[in-house]
Amino acid sequence: MITLEIKSLAANRIRDGYPVIEDFDFKKKINEKEGELVRMVDSNQRFVAIGYLGAEKRAAGWVLSREEDEQIDARFFDRLFRIARTKRATFYSDDTTTAFRFLNGDGDGLGGLTIDYYDGYYVFSWYNKGLYAHKETIMKAFKVAVPDFKGIYEKLNYPKASFQTRFVEGTKHDEALIILENGIRYAVYLNEGWMTGIFLDQRNVRGKIMEEWGMGKTVLNTFSYTGAFSVAASMAGAVKTVNVDAANRSKERTREQFEINGLNPDDHEIRVMDVFSYLDYAIKHKLQFDLIILDPPTFARTKKRTFSVEEDYSELVKDAIKVLAPNGMIITSTNSWKISRDEFYDMVSQAFDESQVDAYLVDEFGLPEDYKTSQEYPESNYLKVFALKRTS
Ligand code: SAH
Repeated sequence: MITLEIKSLAANRIRDGYPVIEDFDFKKKINEKEGELVRMVDSNQRFVAIGYLGAEKRAAGWVLSREEDEQIDARFFDRLFRIARTKRATFYSDDTTTAFRFLNGDGDGLGGLTIDYYDGYYVFSWYNKGLYAHKETIMKAFKVAVPDFKGIYEKLNYPKASFQTRFVEGTKHDEALIILENGIRYAVYLNEGWMTGIFLDQRNVRGKIMEEWGMGKTVLNTFSYTGAFSVAASMAGAVKTVNVDAANRSKERTREQFEINGLNPDDHEIRVMDVFSYLDYAIKHKLQFDLIILDPPTFARTKKRTFSVEEDYSELVKDAIKVLAPNGMIITSTNSWKISRDEFYDMVSQAFDESQVDAYLVDEFGLPEDYKTSQEYPESNYLKVFALKRTS
């Protein structure tokens, strides 16, 4: 292990629990290779923490331990996995929800890796090359801590990676895997790109739609992807859903989600098109919806336009308000770490103000319990969801 001196501010921050190591934290420019384990010391050469180097958008590496004599070996990772597993005991024993996040990066002590559980299968997503260099040790530890896995898949989620997704070991399951969430069935594909077909961090929002907000409603689901929100609403007794997504694959995937739940996809609209074009159309035809879901990606470029949350969210909300039925509800969501909860709230409420429509905040969601985050690193709690109801 190499010893590197870090600046005082960085030393204080890391001692306080901040898990990220940044490029400019180091006294001298670092040339060590990714994956290198580093012992960080302050300007008095006093020990601060052990970490590893791994370049990500916002990080040069991650803190692994604040114990000077810690050995970063299979036993170290084994302990992290056992703790992660214990913390998810209620998920493992819940028969109605069979997919959840098993390990959430730094929130579980291992920045750079997330592991999702899908009905016995584990999907590893690696966010930097540095940690991936330790893959063998980490996998060995995982198989000791979690010997009863059905299969393991992995995804490389960093630039210039040699592949996106692949099967690692156990039993292969490349066809649709049906998982349960609050009793609803969803089809996931473990070996297709970086995504699997469902965003598990929206579980509680889908749960609420199913319990309370879907019944008897007409629903507009924008950026609908595989239509997960619509399935939750329909299982609750929504009258009809309209699903809008620019990606071709969304059509068959959304149909499949309805079908596996015994719902007729022909009762719903699935439109492969730009959300803004659809909203123009809906406004022109004076369509109205009781429940509108706005869950766009942080940034997206389609043939027609680019969308960024910072630039375009207000406009999106304003367009949606134009097709919102009296007493209707809009669910706004973003997973951008750049926008704080309060900034996002201001953006959304400003859109209502400018539209001269009164609404109030009915409910609010962040990440669910399995997405562990540390209080010392608030940006990692990236999800913000508001449910706003029109008062007239
Ligand atoms: N709300 C979804 C997840 C959205 S993922 C869910 O809960 O499952 C983002 C989706 O937005 C992708 O499927 C992408 O195809 C779609 N998308 C991005 N820009 C778009 C645009 N301008 N119009 C329509 N769809 C868009």
